[in-house]
Amino acid sequence: MLKIGESGWIEKEIPACGPLDAICKPLAVAICTSDIHTLWEGAIGERHNMILGHECCAEVTEVGSLVKDFKPGDRVLVPAITPDWNSLEAQSGYSMHSGGMLGGWKFSNFKDGVFSEYFHVNDADGNLAKLPSNINVVDACMLSDMVPTGFHGVELADVQFGDSVLVIGIGPVGLMSVAGAALRGASRIIAVGTRPKCVEAAKNYGASDFISYKNGTIEDQVLALTDGKGVDKVIVAGGGVETFDSAIKSLKPGGKIGNVNYLGSGDYVNIPRVEWGVGMGHKQINGGLMPGGRLRMEKLGALVSSGRLEVAPLSSHIFEGWDHLEEALFLMRDKPADLIKPVVKLAD
Ligand code: NDP
Ligand code: ZN
Repeated sequence: MLKIGESGWIEKEIPACGPLDAICKPLAVAICTSDIHTLWEGAIGERHNMILGHECCAEVTEVGSLVKDFKPGDRVLVPAITPDWNSLEAQSGYSMHSGGMLGGWKFSNFKDGVFSEYFHVNDADGNLAKLPSNINVVDACMLSDMVPTGFHGVELADVQFGDSVLVIGIGPVGLMSVAGAALRGASRIIAVGTRPKCVEAAKNYGASDFISYKNGTIEDQVLALTDGKGVDKVIVAGGGVETFDSAIKSLKPGGKIGNVNYLGSGDYVNIPRVEWGVGMGHKQINGGLMPGGRLRMEKLGALVSSGRLEVAPLSSHIFEGWDHLEEALFLMRDKPADLIKPVVKLAD
C-alpha cells in the first residue's frame, strides 16, 4: 500500500528480530477483504508505504534468544492477530485489544504485513503454531483469518444445539460461520448472499435456506421463512452498517448477534427501537475481532488436520509466485462471481 487507493512494490530492510520475536518467510499468502477496505476505502486511515497482508503460512528463518519452542526451518501457521500476551488486556481475556482497541491486529495495520519476502512476528511462542504436516500451504492460509474469524462469529452469537441461525454474508468469512454453526449443532442455517460459488459452498457447509439481500429486506424474508418468529442467533459477516437493523428485526427476543464484519464506512449503527423490545427485548449485540494465539491456532489446525473441517473449497483462485500478487489483490477488490478467495503460493 503506497497510500490510500494506490498499490505497488517497494524495497525495505529485512525486519530486526527482538529476543521474543521471529522472522519468517511466507510459503503462501492469501488476500483478505480487510486489505481491500484498508487500501481502497481508507477504512483505518492513511498509511504510507505499508506492506499489506495478514494471511499466510510461513517458514521461520530466525528466532530471538528467548524463543523456546520454534527454530529456523519450522513451518508455521501465522494468525492474522498477534497480541502481546503479557498485556493487561490479554490478562483480562481480550488479547486482541492488547495495547488498545484492535491493538492485536498488527500486520498491515500498525506494522508491515506478510506480503513480503520476510516479515516480523512479535511474541513468537505465544503467536505461532506448528503447521501440521498433512495441511498443504494453501489450506494453511485459511487458518490465519477465515477459520478463526468465521468461527468467532459463531462464538459471539453463542450458537447452541438446535438453534436456528441466520448468517448475513457468505464470502469466505461467512462460509466459515456456516461451517462453525453446523459443527456447533445448529438445526437450521439461513444464508444471505448471491455469488453462485458461495451459495454452492454454503450449501455444502450446511446452510439449509438461502435469501438474497437484493430481493427485498433480509428481515421480511427471514420472517416469512420462520412463520413470523425470527431466528435464535444471527452472525453478521458481510454488508454494511444497515445489516444491524435487519439483524435485530430478524432475531427472536433473547437472541444474540455475533458480528465479525469490518464496518468500512458510515458513522453510526442504528438499532431499531421497537424491534429491540423498546430497549427491553434481551437482544444482545456482540462484535469482535478474531482472537489470535498459539493455542487457538493449534486447536483450529487440529480441526482441519483431522478432517473435521474442510477448507479447500474456499481457495477458488490459486496463483504461483509473487508476480501474481497484485492480480490476486485486484481480483479480491473486484469480486467476480466465481471468486471466494485468492491465494498466492510461493513454495510447496
Ligand atoms: P466478502 O466480500 O467475500 O463477502 C461478503 C458477503 O456479504 C457476500 O456474501 C455478499 O454477498 C454479502 N453482502 C454484500 N452486501 C450485502 C448486504 N447489503 N446485505 C447482506 N449481505 C451482503 O467478504 P469476506 O467474507 O472476505 O469478509 C467479510 C467481512 O469480514 C469483511 O468486512 C472483512 O473485512 C471482515 N473481516 C473481519 C475480521 C475480524 O476479525 N472481525 C477478519 C477478517 C475479515 P454477494 O454474494 O452478493 O457478494
Ligand atoms: Zn484477513
